[in-house]
Amino acid sequence: MDFRDTPEEAAFRQEVREFIAREAPKLEHGAGIDVVSGYAQVFVQSQGWFKKLGEKGWIAPAWPKEYGGAGMTAMQQFILNEEMALARAPRPLHLIIGVGMAGPTLIVHGTEEQKKYYLPRILSGEDIWCQGYSEPEAGSDLASLRTRAVRNGDDYIINGQKIWTSIAHLAKWMILLARTDPDAPKHKGITYFILDMKSPGVEVRPLINMAGGQEFNEVFFDSVRVPKSNIIGEENRGWYAAMSTLDFERSAIGSAIGLRQTVEDIIRYAREHTENGSSMLHLNPMLRYELVDRLLEAEVGQMLSYRIISLQAKGLVPNYEASIVKLYNMELNQRIARTGMSVLGPYGQLDRASKWAPLKGRLEHMYLRSVGSTIEGGTSEIQRNIIATRGLGLPRGD
Ligand SMILES: Cc1cc2nc3c(=O)[nH]c(=O)nc-3n(C[C@H](O)[C@H](O)[C@H](O)COP(=O)(O)OP(=O)(O)OC[C@H]3O[C@@H](n4cnc5c(N)ncnc54)[C@H](O)[C@@H]3O)c2cc1C
Repeated sequence: MDFRDTPEEAAFRQEVREFIAREAPKLEHGAGIDVVSGYAQVFVQSQGWFKKLGEKGWIAPAWPKEYGGAGMTAMQQFILNEEMALARAPRPLHLIIGVGMAGPTLIVHGTEEQKKYYLPRILSGEDIWCQGYSEPEAGSDLASLRTRAVRNGDDYIINGQKIWTSIAHLAKWMILLARTDPDAPKHKGITYFILDMKSPGVEVRPLINMAGGQEFNEVFFDSVRVPKSNIIGEENRGWYAAMSTLDFERSAIGSAIGLRQTVEDIIRYAREHTENGSSMLHLNPMLRYELVDRLLEAEVGQMLSYRIISLQAKGLVPNYEASIVKLYNMELNQRIARTGMSVLGPYGQLDRASKWAPLKGRLEHMYLRSVGSTIEGGTSEIQRNIIATRGLGLPRGD
């Protein structure tokens, strides 16, 4: 296995490195942190950087150039993501649903008018999008969703409820899945809409997560009117449009590197921190083993990412392999947070508002926030089901 770059990849990596060194803001809190995590100040300080990324097409590296993306190959996206993570450069996470879901779906299924109107506003950061899929009775079994859309002249009238809708309180638009044919088999009676979050009858109620942030919300629809022209694709074929994506890089290398950096931060803290003159590693020698385990696991996470990118570089589409990465990284996220808490001791409970919080309170936030990471985007059980059936050929459990 040769992990070295080809000459072209090395040149591209160099270009990315120089760009980051020149343009990325040097922020105290570092990578991946923006308004979604509640660090509004960091988000504001990163606006100029996000604009520069946008000018290069690097906000949406996978989108075709004609739509304002960079038309990058999966390998180029991998290098960009890897370098951004290594440099802890802030990522525009508030644009993730627009760039990663709404935009690609519109590029493939949208009308020319829809593409012309919505895509530039996604890339400029002007419009934030949210994803209205999950409902109180429809999460893992999403196709059983019950929010109704009933045709009325040139409009549809929407009634129902979504839940866990990340950044709905900031969003201008929602990609909404609603049932248009209750008599059809469940995957076949769903339509995909673009919903204006400012429409009369839309109510967003905050859900405060246990890390203290308003990240997600409940969204209620009381006879909300959506024009027919806001359907993405065809009526009753929304399920299939919602499942389509562009050819994204799916290695999650950014998250793997972020996990490794956190382990390294914890090790550095453990090495430097003393109590009454003794290093905690002397006071609790077993901690050394735990740190070694986490570092090895972080390395495994990185190797799993390399496996995905090597599949994509050969033109193959990762399937259950992407579930392996999601499952492994998100469970590791929780183990690292627990190890971090053991190392930090009682001080680990202080949040970032306290000047005494070790590592600027990042571990405290990670410890609480990482609980949700094995639920969002498909729970660990669902990922195991995918790996069992598609990867190992085992029978379905139901
Ligand atoms: C931080 C966070 C952000 C989110 N953001 C969004 C968002 O922006 N938009 C959105 O639409 N949704 C969002 N979600 C919702 C998320 O997609 C759902 O929570 C997830 O799909 C699980 O659905 P559920 O909560 O209804 O749990 P359920 O599907 O009811 O599952 C309950 C439990 O049963 C298990 N289970 C269910 N089915 C099976 C099965 N077949 N086999 C084995 N076990 C099973 C699950 O693993 C889980 O442990 C977010 C969730 C979180 C935590």
